[in-house]
Amino acid sequence: MRQLFAVELIYRGVFQKTLAKNITRGIVLAAHKEGKPGLSFGRYGDSPERNGIPAKSFAIVASDDQTLQLGMAHYEPGQVDLTVVLDDSLAKGIESWAWDGVHAVNARVRRGGTLIVVSTQSADELLELIHRSEQPYKLGILPGVASFSGMWVYKDDHTDVRVLGAIAKAAPEVVSIDAVEAYINEKLKNPLKAQSARKAYERFSAVDVLPDQGNAEPLVGFALPKWSQMRLGVSIPGQPQGGPLEDPVTKKTGGFRPARNEKFLKATTRTLRPVVNFETCTKCTLCWLDCPDGSFDVTPDGTYDVDLHGCCGCGICEAVCPVKDCITMVAETEFRENGSEWTRFKKDKAAYLAWLKTTIATAQKEKDRSYGFRYRGQYEEQAPAALEAAHKS
Ligand code: SF4
Ligand code: SF4
Repeated sequence: MRQLFAVELIYRGVFQKTLAKNITRGIVLAAHKEGKPGLSFGRYGDSPERNGIPAKSFAIVASDDQTLQLGMAHYEPGQVDLTVVLDDSLAKGIESWAWDGVHAVNARVRRGGTLIVVSTQSADELLELIHRSEQPYKLGILPGVASFSGMWVYKDDHTDVRVLGAIAKAAPEVVSIDAVEAYINEKLKNPLKAQSARKAYERFSAVDVLPDQGNAEPLVGFALPKWSQMRLGVSIPGQPQGGPLEDPVTKKTGGFRPARNEKFLKATTRTLRPVVNFETCTKCTLCWLDCPDGSFDVTPDGTYDVDLHGCCGCGICEAVCPVKDCITMVAETEFRENGSEWTRFKKDKAAYLAWLKTTIATAQKEKDRSYGFRYRGQYEEQAPAALEAAHKS
């Protein structure tokens, strides 16, 4: 019987590019060992790959050449047997830079297919973030932290072969563990890596996820205009100016919120987000001036509030703010929403400042955070917990 299989890898652009490429390439080369032809290819979200943006790589494997050619007639598969997420901070959903809405990470997983997430979180914790799917699927966790194996630095922590082992367990029809081991031994010439793949294979398991399980929040959508709705000719509309904000408590208006492209939102590109202490802000304007994404609103108080749909988490505002702990970058996984911090502050200052204190204390344990990819020292700090999880699983 002719069969076509598709695997989708979702990763952080640039930082995990080589890892993703090695995994999809590994799937195809391992499948070749079983006489199955295949192809692997990357997709950059329709624009050049940039630091941290969600990006994708695919592996297509078929039972024969003709089926593969038929499958490749599509630019990329609409449905996949497996999706692998290499950084669990992407579990909230992904957006491309050619923005067309937020996509759930399980959006392409076929009925009964498997979503594999590299994470130290539990399935229940991840399902708070992963949006619901209309069809049942399986969720498997490969214990581990997001591996930094990108274009310039390759951290060879065996994530590549562990993912291959998990894939072989979740979908042996795509590639078997024997073929994975044969590929590793022949091409990577590393028996230790073959052992890691086998261990991941033996320990990997997945739980069933039903349509009523997962994050019930609607995804931010964007309907592409039909040709009949487009304007005639070529014209570039002027940029709307924006206007003042309303104080949620006093209802007084003031400050300035620039008009932004409502359809180009960047929340899921972040691995860290800025939190602002409006009490200690000296209104120096530096964050507002230096934010490359124009993400700050001037509040009626003269302080600066981050528009969390526009912020890509680069951390420049924290770096330029002259006041200690006035802006702090915090891991995005700590948050569940993108509402205004200033509104929260205005509604209940004491609660906001207490929250800020604990949040900043958590973030500051992570010394020398690196804004593109969490923080330097991440592996040193997380390795013991990740190793323990990997040993137990
Ligand atoms: S993290 Fe970067 S994009 Fe976000 S508000 Fe700060 S400077 Fe702007
Ligand atoms: S850089 Fe810091 S002190 Fe200056 S306006 Fe921004 S938040 Fe306030």
